[in-house]
Amino acid sequence: MNLRDEELERYARHIVLPQVGGAGQRKLKAASVAVVGAGGIGSAVIPALAGAGIGQLTIIDDDVVEPANLHRQPLFRERDAGYSKADLALQFVQRLNRFVMAKPVQQRIDAENAGELLTGHDLVIDGSDNFATRLAVSDACVGLDVPLLSAAAVQFQGQVGLFRAQPCYRCFVGDAFDADDCDNCAELGVLGALTATVGSFAALLAINTIVGIGEDQAGKLHLFDGETLEWRTIRIPPDPRCRACGSA
Ligand SMILES: [Zn+2]
Repeated sequence: MNLRDEELERYARHIVLPQVGGAGQRKLKAASVAVVGAGGIGSAVIPALAGAGIGQLTIIDDDVVEPANLHRQPLFRERDAGYSKADLALQFVQRLNRFVMAKPVQQRIDAENAGELLTGHDLVIDGSDNFATRLAVSDACVGLDVPLLSAAAVQFQGQVGLFRAQPCYRCFVGDAFDADDCDNCAELGVLGALTATVGSFAALLAINTIVGIGEDQAGKLHLFDGETLEWRTIRIPPDPRCRACGSA
């Protein structure tokens, strides 16, 4: 996949990096990424990936903008209240980078449709706000053999993990949350700048994963504490009895 002169100019600060170069930028252009949720995490992930020149972005969100979203979702403005987040995110991407092909999907993703919506992507980034959706997305990614980057923020706590084959996200959280459809942010609150921090970290991890920068992060969970401002990393053990990825 070749880069045009305008793209070489546009991505010059990437291409000059030895870790990226022209080859890395072409990998970004060749990549197809699905972003589940155009909320707080998506508001950081979508601009970062569009700016970085990811070739194809699918943005999946059935929600409309509400005033209570605006403290953490800078993709949207006051006058966007009531409009589709997926459509507004598409417009944002189109204004930012005409070399990105973006596709909005105004559907709620669930266990029934996740496989169909996510098939054909090289990476799925889940920034949804409830466990039922996250588990449905994870199970679909295991079935499709697509790596999943899961990012979440609530109150002052953030977490980001990359899952490929085993362990999967279900190994980490178990089966207890499949029916949990609550909106964590609405119930528990979340600091707006935290979702931006966690979303930006997820975007960086996505780009590193696609280009192949640094060591493979699959199976690690990165945890951020917004009060102490400290990151720590834990390794997630595979669950041999996991009903998504387990062999038993
Ligand atoms: Zn698993």
